[in-house]
Amino acid sequence: MKVKGVLLDMGGVVLEMAGARGFPVERLDWRGREAMGRLIRAEGGRLSPDDLEDLLFTPWHLDYLRRVEMGREATWEPHLERLRTVVGISTSDLQLLEAWFRPYGEQLRPIAGAVEAVHSLRSSGLELALVSNVPLPGALYDQVLQGHGLLESFRSRRYSYDCDTRKPSPALLRAALTDLDVDREAAIMVGDRRDRDIAAGRSAGIATVWIRGEFDDGPVADIDIGSLAELPGLLQSWNDA
Ligand SMILES: [Mg+2]
Repeated sequence: MKVKGVLLDMGGVVLEMAGARGFPVERLDWRGREAMGRLIRAEGGRLSPDDLEDLLFTPWHLDYLRRVEMGREATWEPHLERLRTVVGISTSDLQLLEAWFRPYGEQLRPIAGAVEAVHSLRSSGLELALVSNVPLPGALYDQVLQGHGLLESFRSRRYSYDCDTRKPSPALLRAALTDLDVDREAAIMVGDRRDRDIAAGRSAGIATVWIRGEFDDGPVADIDIGSLAELPGLLQSWNDA
């Protein structure tokens, strides 16, 4: 098997994602809400103390819990629209979400060795794609990748929020293969969750590499590695064999 394309999960593979769910919780949630409140007031909005909770975060979170069960992400649009109407602003969805996300996004870091591994894979001529389950628009995570010099390495980035489908559905992986113009027989899927990443890879008929860790429920991968740093060497020997 000659590998031409590598599909990578993001959280736990390329980036450390605090909380593993990809959105702000606890202290970072509160700091983000403060920033969103400042933005709304700066835009002339009349914000009461409970508005963000009642109009936006509680209804979104209920949608989130229900939609994840259905293999989808919860859309923010109806909740942001309700908030805008009540507080009297016209600020865009992305600006509002960016204000909330930024304190969280700023503390996301690449996993040790991941930047070097990504650059090594890319410089060996492999086509790279990110396939990631995230509950917010992909543009926010693109900014994080950009800040760590990772964005340009991924010709395709398929985020569940933008594609309305989540792993373990194979749909994100299939879309990424089309973006890269790589056949499934010449691709591998790398992820840290066997129930999502490895399951999605197997459904898509792609060889799978599991990054060993706590998420070990689910189908067994073709190969296990300890971290992404091991992947360039593994593929080198694979392609030389
Ligand atoms: Mg992951």
